[in-house]
Amino acid sequence: MSQAKPKSKSQTPTAHKVVVIGAGIVGVNLALALQGRGYDVTILDRGEPGMGASFGNAGGIAVTECAPIAMPGTMMNVPGWLMDPLGPLSVRWRYLPRMMPWLLRFVASSSKSRVEQIAVELAALLNRAWDDYDPVIAKAGLADAVFKKEGAIAVYRSDASRRGADYEIDLRRRNGIKIRDLTRDEVRDLEPDLAPIFACGVMEEDWGRVLDPYKIVMGLYKCFLDQGGTFETANVTDFVYRDGKPRAAMTTSGDQITFDSVVVACGAWSKTLAKRLGSPVPLDTERGYNTTVPYHDAKLSRMVICADDSFVMTPMEMGIRVGGAVELGGLIAPPNYERAKALFAKGKEALPKLNAEGGTEWMGFRPSMPDSKPVISKSPKHQNVFFSFGHGHLGLTMAATTGRLISDLVAGSETPINMTPYRINRF
Ligand SMILES: Cc1cc2nc3c(=O)[nH]c(=O)nc-3n(C[C@H](O)[C@H](O)[C@H](O)COP(=O)(O)OP(=O)(O)OC[C@H]3O[C@@H](n4cnc5c(N)ncnc54)[C@H](O)[C@@H]3O)c2cc1C
Repeated sequence: MSQAKPKSKSQTPTAHKVVVIGAGIVGVNLALALQGRGYDVTILDRGEPGMGASFGNAGGIAVTECAPIAMPGTMMNVPGWLMDPLGPLSVRWRYLPRMMPWLLRFVASSSKSRVEQIAVELAALLNRAWDDYDPVIAKAGLADAVFKKEGAIAVYRSDASRRGADYEIDLRRRNGIKIRDLTRDEVRDLEPDLAPIFACGVMEEDWGRVLDPYKIVMGLYKCFLDQGGTFETANVTDFVYRDGKPRAAMTTSGDQITFDSVVVACGAWSKTLAKRLGSPVPLDTERGYNTTVPYHDAKLSRMVICADDSFVMTPMEMGIRVGGAVELGGLIAPPNYERAKALFAKGKEALPKLNAEGGTEWMGFRPSMPDSKPVISKSPKHQNVFFSFGHGHLGLTMAATTGRLISDLVAGSETPINMTPYRINRF
């Protein structure tokens, strides 16, 4: 492939300028990776960096999560979940018709043969996550903000519910992931503040967590600026073409920001820009909620996944964050914070010393593809266009790997893994 090669910053008159649209955890990681290869990089965002989904997520470096969201049998559970308006899955019914194309592909992705394949393809990204993050975190001086490989535990209310996860756990083990069963007593020893309602659990040793996801984005962003990177506030709506090639980003204020290459990394909002660049894509959002309460009496030593109720609890710098859930409702409808409250109530059942006082609620838009795999792709239409979005539940985890891979694609270098599974036109 013959893409323009990067020039060093000392050659600025002819430097190859890459514009990255989106300053979330994905955008800043790939901006840093591109900068590391000598490109002249500008990040554009319509708001402040790090205020999208990357702001308030659960903070898990969830490298063991290679099982997709649509699993065999998932659809059987859906009617039961939907009966409970504050359960782990809810739908804004008025949005349902617009979401149908996504949902049909989601269902098609849940067959056993597809799930087996998707798990291999997600594991190919996840198994690299620490190796790709380590140098980025070290360079940005953020090592103290990342708790590494202390593991997470998933807890189950009954042996039957643990057995219900047999297929998923086996799938993950077959993809090289270390998972160790825990007895009731072992769960209690690891996390004494948990209520005695959990019959068993599993330890997922390779998980890590960050102390504040927003601080990670901002730390990497600062590193990008310190190294000479540029940021512009710009709400990109379209592109200017010259000689059939996209050459500038058009913004709501009428500016045209020129580039040699462009990467769309707008998280859940990437669909419109991808379409403008000739690549329609079935991206939608799974909205998620959480509550973060300051430390009172409850203590946790690591992330805890309450498997039966599909929520997680993360000890963070500012307190304990309790959340999860999936709400299918698009990008426009206002948040329904009753969902955050319902999750917090379940959190209190699991961790009785949790205290709501001083808590803050948050909703974020996960950028989700129906097959749970991100888009990390060059454009099939334009040699100077690249896409990097759709990381769903795992954007924090996969961001450094995504940065590395996109920088390979832009440079036209060989990638360390096969990129076909993540191409934008796979549907
Ligand atoms: C409740 C919840 C818990 C989660 N927990 C975890 C977890 O534990 N571990 C994990 O790995 N992941 C987790 N995630 C997922 C993770 O947060 C996302 O996958 C990730 O943040 C996506 O990053 P992003 O950079 O692609 O998008 P975002 O962070 O949303 O950034 C997109 C940026 O693009 C900008 N933008 C959009 N449109 C335009 C435009 N037209 N012009 C200019 N700028 C634009 C936005 O302003 C925004 O800043 C969680 C998500 C949620 C909601």
